[in-house]
Amino acid sequence: MTEKTSPLHPQTRAVRSHLGKGEQSGDVVQAVHMATTFRHGPAYEPLSDYQYARDHSPNVDALERALVELEQGAYCVAFGSGVAAGAALAQVLPVGAHILFHNDTYLDFKGQAGELYERWQIKASYCDLRDLHHVEDKLAQGVDLVWFETPSNPCLDILDIEAISGMAHKHDARVLVDSTFASPALQNPLTLGADYVLQSTTKSIGGHSDVMGGAIIGRHGEDEQPLRRLRKLTGAVMAPFSAWLATRGLQTLHCRQRQQSRSAMTVATFLQDHERVERVHYPGLADAKGHEIASRQMHAFGSMVSFEVAGGAQEAIKVASRVQLFTTATSVGGVESLLEHRPSVEGAMTQTPAGLLRASIGLEDPDDLISDLRRALSKN
Ligand code: PLP
Repeated sequence: MTEKTSPLHPQTRAVRSHLGKGEQSGDVVQAVHMATTFRHGPAYEPLSDYQYARDHSPNVDALERALVELEQGAYCVAFGSGVAAGAALAQVLPVGAHILFHNDTYLDFKGQAGELYERWQIKASYCDLRDLHHVEDKLAQGVDLVWFETPSNPCLDILDIEAISGMAHKHDARVLVDSTFASPALQNPLTLGADYVLQSTTKSIGGHSDVMGGAIIGRHGEDEQPLRRLRKLTGAVMAPFSAWLATRGLQTLHCRQRQQSRSAMTVATFLQDHERVERVHYPGLADAKGHEIASRQMHAFGSMVSFEVAGGAQEAIKVASRVQLFTTATSVGGVESLLEHRPSVEGAMTQTPAGLLRASIGLEDPDDLISDLRRALSKN
């Protein structure tokens, strides 16, 4: 009798799924394939699956295979950045398509909608997708795609993936979840009914603030070829070494995210009790608005903590200028903790609360991070 093997755990798949057999060299790790072009045979027949790296190449394929496994999708198409991935998906929609966004959406996706969608002949509108009555009203008016981040950037709103997907499908609309703030280690939207997952692999997947990339992972196989064709024709493909780094990042993603989530919870709890902090946005806090939904759809609550400093923008900027351990910089998901005054980055059109600081919690000891924040928040 053959013994039945149980399916591998996600962490195991993240470590091993992209590894080939290293048949020629015996490599234990993935090789880097920097070739832009691939040889043909004497009758001009291709000698492998590859011809030209703007189409696809071995390291990009390896990352795509790993993300398909981790997100449980039908396909993955990797791009040169997260915004390139989002732009590609918008551009393969039919002319006249209507995308409904959550109000709190990443700045440059709002920028694409405001500055480029008219040229692409698609429409965008916004509402608070936490209110399912709003969602229903909007869907009844005709929406093709509902697009949201959960947790959202920068307010860490939590959106109910299963509920919104169920409602959207009744109206023949599809759902894209930008799961960048959760990563595949913490949340798998396709298993909850979403049609597309967007990952900026620049963030937690790369994990070391040194590589740009993005990916769409989808559930419906028929969407793959239009995305691949668009990527080829616009040259939006991910570079081989970027794919190699992102795939290496995947191998430590689960343990980084577990530790970062624990530290973020410790930092959020400290901030919640601080007299100069008016509000903490962290889905792991029991009284956070989306806590119950996040507990259902996330495996842990993630590395991002936003908080509002009493006194508004000026006081928040003062706090940011006084940290010594946190690096004041944009971006998220690296091993080093970052702090940023988000409204300053977003500029005049920002809708983010004036005193909001967004912290990306890295892998330092959380006690050191708390000491740094305590000092920065003290009045003298
Ligand atoms: N999605 C979210 C939630 C983001 O925060 C970002 C960037 O900050 C992106 C997408 C875009 O990713 P990239 O910078 O890789 O283009």
